[in-house]
Amino acid sequence: MLLVLLPMQVHAQDAFCEWDRTEAAARFGSSALSAPTIPAWTLPLSQASFARRSAPGRVFPSDPGSSVPTDVLLPGLLGDGMALDGEYVRAGSDRLDGIGQVMTTTDGDFRFAPDTSAALLCPTDISVCRAFDAVNVYWHVDRYVREFWVDRMGVEPSFRAEARVHIGGDGAFADWTSRSQKMGVGDIFMKNTALSDDLIYHEYTHLVLSSLGFETGTGVSEQTRALHEAYADYFAATFTGEPRIGEWVVTCPPRQQCQGPPNDRELRTLELDPGIWNWREGAPSDSLRYGICTRFHEGDGKCKQSWNNYTRPYVWGMIWAAALWDLRTALGAEQVDRLALEAARRHDSTTDFARALGHLLEEAEGRFGPNVRGQVETVFLERGLTASMDVSVESSDQDAGLELWPNPARGSLSIRLPDAPSGHLAAEWVIRDLLGREVLRGTARSGDLLSVDTGQLPAGVYRFEARSGARSMRQMFVHFR
Ligand SMILES: [Zn+2]
Repeated sequence: MLLVLLPMQVHAQDAFCEWDRTEAAARFGSSALSAPTIPAWTLPLSQASFARRSAPGRVFPSDPGSSVPTDVLLPGLLGDGMALDGEYVRAGSDRLDGIGQVMTTTDGDFRFAPDTSAALLCPTDISVCRAFDAVNVYWHVDRYVREFWVDRMGVEPSFRAEARVHIGGDGAFADWTSRSQKMGVGDIFMKNTALSDDLIYHEYTHLVLSSLGFETGTGVSEQTRALHEAYADYFAATFTGEPRIGEWVVTCPPRQQCQGPPNDRELRTLELDPGIWNWREGAPSDSLRYGICTRFHEGDGKCKQSWNNYTRPYVWGMIWAAALWDLRTALGAEQVDRLALEAARRHDSTTDFARALGHLLEEAEGRFGPNVRGQVETVFLERGLTASMDVSVESSDQDAGLELWPNPARGSLSIRLPDAPSGHLAAEWVIRDLLGREVLRGTARSGDLLSVDTGQLPAGVYRFEARSGARSMRQMFVHFR
């Protein structure tokens, strides 16, 4: 039934769903406008300058798969409360309300009936568009801002989001230039994203990250874009307490006789095998994919497989998001939400994975001490992620001529101590873990080549220190098992 209604034949390559088009939108926005004009309605409200009203509304408190339509109050409405024009978000349907227009009512009552299946046709048939959808997005964005960003994280948004529903096609996207998030009605692989709580949170998180200075745009590397996706998933997931993203919104046409592995039931998840979803020190597997759908294509009578996530910003982002989720499992949401936020504040359009981890480690140490820092180090190491840090004492010591390789080390470490100005001098060396505990010790002479067996050490980050006379030197290294 679904396929009959598709406007054109879909080829295998078209089947990949670029569901979240943040970067495309950002690219378009920044090339079209050298100095983007920010619409006045996206500017933050000066506090207390407007009365806010609440109005009755009806929403899915999570998504249609796990909740029923429920009557709620929509807080934060400005003016007479007759429009979805609020303190944190303005919402409307491009079809029902007009392009860029907020939704209005005549009686201030936003309780409408949902339709969980027909929205796909809304872009061409206005009779199936439901006013419910904009109300649902308004309530979720407003709730996410109040409960998570303001109350839990202490972040008061510096902008108002423009939420649009009834956009044609699969997926959703965010565009910082216009402060907007746009929710697609679905196509072959997805349902109406305006009814998916976690996708609403994911897109809004892109806007928050940008507002904090972590912007992506033209020429931004795939690692930086992956980080943006990862934090958008992580914050959505930590708020819902659910590592699966888009567990209602994903769909797949009937496969009929076609063979294949079971379809993935969610768009992405943060619970992933660390042996597969592993950064491998910058060489992750090229075959990483997620969100498989095996289907029978009626148009050309063939079996097809596709994935919802197959490009690097998404699959690499899943590695980072999974590492954050591992850390949340180990340390709890309170600490890890804080760490993720404070690290993300320090990220910018040039941040890569190594530097992002450096930010996380420095925040962990500064806020929670060396023990937590060590745990962050260990969890990320299990995902093949190691940091690059600007640690001045280490770099100056490296200049002293201490050579240490390979780094990361596996099993053994070679070290050359610098020549002493006055011939060979005895040197003492120790290796310490991140808590400063001595794990190995020995002696050598300056100029010597040492080979140290590190095979029995737990995986982690260590510091090699040597002292020869009045001279001391040290260098960090990573050890894998
Ligand atoms: Zn995204």
